[in-house]
Amino acid sequence: MNGATPLAVTYAGHMARSAYERSKSVESIAWKEHPLARSLALRLLEESSGGARQAIGQALLDVLDDAAGLPPCKLTVADRPQRHRKREGRLEMKTYGYYRCDWDAGEARRGSIRIYNLTAIRQQILSPKVFLETLLHEWVHHYDFAGLRLDRSPHTSGFFARIRAVAETLGVGFVAPPKREASIGSLHPVDDVVPPWPNRLRPGGTDPPKWIRDQIAALFGRKEP
Ligand SMILES: [Zn+2]
Repeated sequence: MNGATPLAVTYAGHMARSAYERSKSVESIAWKEHPLARSLALRLLEESSGGARQAIGQALLDVLDDAAGLPPCKLTVADRPQRHRKREGRLEMKTYGYYRCDWDAGEARRGSIRIYNLTAIRQQILSPKVFLETLLHEWVHHYDFAGLRLDRSPHTSGFFARIRAVAETLGVGFVAPPKREASIGSLHPVDDVVPPWPNRLRPGGTDPPKWIRDQIAALFGRKEP
């Protein structure tokens, strides 16, 4: 858990030290417990369709956001296979979901989470455990930006401790096993957080390049204003 993973080194290399260190040092979530959250998490474990997972997952996100005092976060569950990349016939990289948030006057506002409901190659429905873990993973990115007010949300040991803290509070600690960090490379690549728009961070700045706008439109299924 301690010790620098290659990923951590990558992040530390080009991130303000404070964001990385702060992410690493916080191992719990500041929130008030909500009685509905546990039952929603358990109900989610019984659903498999994209529509039901989206509806109940959204209700869970709303409760979590309310309990932690965060702005809303919208969930989209796509009945599509996970985005992935192969090299020489082998699965090299895949991602279960993405997170992004809108920025306004230097503050994280509305967040968006997108999760693919089918596995990359065999196109089977995600197991309930993996789905719930992914949802909590992406929500902790939302917490990092909107709650901790970090300007990045790196996959530090503290980040994974926060996921475990949420899972344990919800009574589903088994979805977030310890020492996940070591296996992160193939499961949650560094780019599961879409960077905020440069022109929203820097008033008067230029629009992001077209390839970034296209990528975001492809991920979230809508054109940016
Ligand atoms: Zn992530």
